[in-house]
Formats: sequence, C-alpha cells, structure tokens
Amino acid sequence: MDKLKSGIEQAVQLISNSRCAIALTGAGLSVASGIPDFRSPGGLWSKHDPEKVASIRALKADPATVWNFLIDAAAMIQSVEPNAGHEALAQLEKSGGIHGVITQNIDGLHQRAGSMNVIEFHGNCSKFYCMECFSPFPAQRITPQVDLPVRCPQCDGVVRPDLVFYGEQIPQEAYKAAFELADQSDLVIVAGTSGDVVPASLIPPRIQDAGGKIIEINMAPSAYTSLSDVCIRGRAEEVLPAIVQNLS
Ligand SMILES: [Zn+2]
Repeated sequence: MDKLKSGIEQAVQLISNSRCAIALTGAGLSVASGIPDFRSPGGLWSKHDPEKVASIRALKADPATVWNFLIDAAAMIQSVEPNAGHEALAQLEKSGGIHGVITQNIDGLHQRAGSMNVIEFHGNCSKFYCMECFSPFPAQRITPQVDLPVRCPQCDGVVRPDLVFYGEQIPQEAYKAAFELADQSDLVIVAGTSGDVVPASLIPPRIQDAGGKIIEINMAPSAYTSLSDVCIRGRAEEVLPAIVQNLS
C-alpha cells in the first residue's frame, strides 16, 4: 500500500473514532484558490512591506496608503473561489465528521464553501467598521471608485476592515471561542499551516496533551510533524476530498 493511501486510511479511522474533531487551517489551504501565501516568494509580503501597508501604526499614520493596498488585496480575494479543500471541510462538517474550523485565513473562503462554524483568528477582510465610532460600514460601498481613505459617513473617522493588523492582538472573542472549541475536541486536522504563528500553533499540542490526536496535511514538514499521529504529505485540496470520499 502506498504511503498516501495508508495515511488517508489512518485519517479516516481517526475521524470515524473521534467524538469531536475540528480543523485548523492556514494559508496553504487557499493557495489552490489563487491566493499565494502572503509570506512565500511571490506572496503579498514579497511585494509590499507589511509594516507600511498592513500595520495598525500605518493605518493611523497614513490611512490612504493602507487603503490603496486594501482595495487591491480585497479585489484579489473577491476574484477567487473556494477550492476542493474548503469544500471537503464544509462537507465534513455537514456529515458530522468535524464540528468546526479554526482558521488563520482572512479570505472568507470556508464560509463561501458552506462551512457554518468558522472561527477566524485574524478576522475577515469583507467586514468593515469605523475606527472612531465603531459603526459598521457596508462592504458593497467599498469599490475601486471610492475616495481613499474610506471615511465614516457619521463621524468622518477612518473606516477599517475587521481583521487583525500587524501590531494588533487576536480579538478576545475569537481567542476564547477557538480555545473553547479546542478544549471540547479530541482530534484536530491541521491543513495548510506550518505551526509557526501563535496562538494557532498552541491548539494542536493542547488537544494532544488532553489525550486527543493530530492529523497533519501539509506539503512540507512543519512544527506539527513530530507531534502528528498521522502525517500526510500532499495538497490539502486533494487529500481532504479523498478523506471525505473514504469516510462515506
Ligand atoms: Zn464613525
């Protein structure tokens, strides 16, 4: 039996035997949708300095520059579609195979694929609010024609996306929800994330310390590899659908 096939069979076994499985996803999952990992060569951070375009300091000091970047990034994200990996996780949730997804991605592709219980550690790039009065700002009013920086019609404050900028903390609500879900879980499927960003990287070891298991699906070895009960080297958009198919 080849390695990939046996990895998939072991993963299917662990999911079937689990009481409450969850998925933890990162940039690698959305690469097949056409969003290059921000930190990889060719990714956004190879062309733009995140300190200048995606930090809270820059948003306060030079909101027009940040907004120029946000308009381009939002257009790129809106132009892509969920891939077979997102769809397989949505299907797994519907069939009761997993209870939710904790993601470090801001692209909203899990929800667009049909996942219901999605905890977004770093926020979402399609929700906006005013930095001064916190009024929500409708996403459909953010177009390439809008004056930059986008300003609040109520108070003229700068509008911002509901995502975590460099220099900001993970929102308390997401943090709490993620760790509560993790504490109910006895299995985590790690897909497309290398485990070098806290606090997401703390979740798999926490589940394992409580007696749970880890399935890793990544292209390359990661911080999770030495911990994983099942480690599958491959593309999440190929491996996850194969797992779903073998479960049914
Ligand atoms: Zn306002």
